[in-house]
Formats: sequence, structure tokens, C-alpha cells
Amino acid sequence: MTRRINAGAGEERGERCIRQRYPVTSSLPCQISKCSLCCHNTEMVLCDADVKRIESLGYKREEFCVEVDGVLYLKNVNSACVFLRNGLCKIYEYRPMGCALYPLIYDPELNICLLDHDCPNYYMFYFEEVHEKTIRKLVAEVFGEKVNGNA
Ligand code: SF4
Repeated sequence: MTRRINAGAGEERGERCIRQRYPVTSSLPCQISKCSLCCHNTEMVLCDADVKRIESLGYKREEFCVEVDGVLYLKNVNSACVFLRNGLCKIYEYRPMGCALYPLIYDPELNICLLDHDCPNYYMFYFEEVHEKTIRKLVAEVFGEKVNGNA
């Protein structure tokens, strides 16, 4: 009897969790949990469009970019992204594509896209084919490699 009640309650909780999942482009899970972990010690890559979009806001490339082996990354200042202020992104509407899609990441060894379990809220997100295509395209552009399944 007790087990049946528990099982039912668990199913209801599970259903609520599924209803509360958000697309990877949503900021709601981060807002709800007041989390900006992914903006600390960031290793986020930047594509040409990201750099141009941020430059159009008046920032100079050297203010927000670091180059490593020919690849541009967001700069960290005091262990956090240069654009993070009081836990919020200063350029949210213009943030890099990789930021907009996180916690969706690409695993080159397995050639799959997946939700990064380093994100404490990964289970609150879901992704669709369009997100997967976009991240594969981003990786292919930034690293100059053919990514299997890239459109
Ligand atoms: S650009 Fe914005 S979302 Fe991306 S790491 Fe920096 S603060 Fe976070």
C-alpha cells in the first residue's frame, strides 16, 4: 500500500519535472536557481559572427577575446567572464552562440551533442535538432574541422 502511494507520488513529481523542462536557449533555469556557474572560468569559443556582434556594441576585440592556437575564446577577469556583472550577463541579448546554447555541448570523440552534466541544472533543459545543427556548425567553423552530421 505504502509503496503504491510512493510510486504514484513519484510519477506525479516526474511528470511535473518533465513539464518544467526548458529549451537550452532559455535562461529560466539559471534565473530560478540564481546560477552563473558556466560564466566562471569560461572556456567559451567565439565565432566570427559572435565577435562582430559584440564589437558592434562598442567593445574592442582585445577587451573580451583571448586567442589560443588560432581559436578565439571569451576572456576571464578575476576567474569570471569579462561580461559577468553581479551574476548577470551584461550582453545577454548579444551573447556568443555557445553561451546561448549551453548546457548543450558537442563531444568530438563520440560525435554527439549532449547536455553538460557540469551544469547543475542540466536536467531542466532539453534540446532539439535545430540546436544540435547550430552547435555542430559552430564547432566546425571555430575549429575548422568537419563535424559529422553537420548540415
Ligand atoms: S558572455 Fe554572458 S553568458 Fe557568456 S559566459 Fe560571459 S557572462 Fe556568461
